[in-house]
Amino acid sequence: MVRLTIDSRKLAKEIIKKKAEKVLIQAPAGLKRKIADIVQKLERKTNAKIFLSADSCFGACDIPIGTIKVLKPDLVLHIGHAKMLALQNISYFPLQYEFSKKEKAMLLKLLIKELKSKGIRKACGVATIQYIELLKWIAKEAAKHGIKIVLKKSKYGIAGQVLGCETSAARSKAEAIVFVGDGVFHAIGIAKAEKKSVLILNPLAKHVRWLEKKKLREIEKKRIATLFKAKQAKRFGIVLSVKPGQFNEKLALEAKRILEANGKEAVLIAADDITEHALLDFNLDCFVAIACPRLADDAPYWKKPLIGFEELQLIFGK
Ligand code: SF4
Repeated sequence: MVRLTIDSRKLAKEIIKKKAEKVLIQAPAGLKRKIADIVQKLERKTNAKIFLSADSCFGACDIPIGTIKVLKPDLVLHIGHAKMLALQNISYFPLQYEFSKKEKAMLLKLLIKELKSKGIRKACGVATIQYIELLKWIAKEAAKHGIKIVLKKSKYGIAGQVLGCETSAARSKAEAIVFVGDGVFHAIGIAKAEKKSVLILNPLAKHVRWLEKKKLREIEKKRIATLFKAKQAKRFGIVLSVKPGQFNEKLALEAKRILEANGKEAVLIAADDITEHALLDFNLDCFVAIACPRLADDAPYWKKPLIGFEELQLIFGK
């Protein structure tokens, strides 16, 4: 059975090694419950006072700076994502899904069959952090079946790793890209950036599927409709994320400059979690997000259009 386990011994070891007396633990939704289950054991083992962060934790970019400033923990344990930011006193604990031998063999078989049926002998392999070990194993085993799966290093130094905002590991001369992960968000980002076919191996659903061109066209259509609305808008809110790995004040100011140069009104807004509900209160016509690209996922369903910086450049002529 597929498992995602948090090794409490590793966490305890880190707390003891850092001689931390006050610890803040941060985990994404879905893992918070698992952390709550082990926190008492950790306190007993380490004698540290442990606080669990209830703030959002969307990625390695999302460190609760506000809580840290007030609480002043000696150590922050960030669970579930690999290191992105070199901030003091933060230790990252990425997690890996564990698969049985039988499950791995079955996933490999599915992948090899699909690649061979399309005559593909070389592909670039990428995965989200939870599946990196599985990807490495697949790459090694696929070679025995005459298929080369190349793993390139990401910007953060991890072979094969992709994030929603960083897909450089998918860049190679191979004819196709194999993405190991659940969901299509990353695969869409990769297909858009690399303009190549992406084969998704979903280890939880246990299937392989090509990212459909139809799906990409649908997304593009929605984006074009959003850009059209944005171009007609008069009053813009530039929403600057204050999450440490997303914060880019310079870009927000540049967005303001572009808008004003094109005769638009532009208001700067700072936010931690960016939600439609919070933004609608401002009663503006359109929003430019200087934040995680994942926001554009929800945006087609928002009442007011939300675009990214590159889209802003696109509609105003760059
Ligand atoms: S900016 Fe978005 S995609 Fe990038 S790490 Fe953060 S949450 Fe993930």
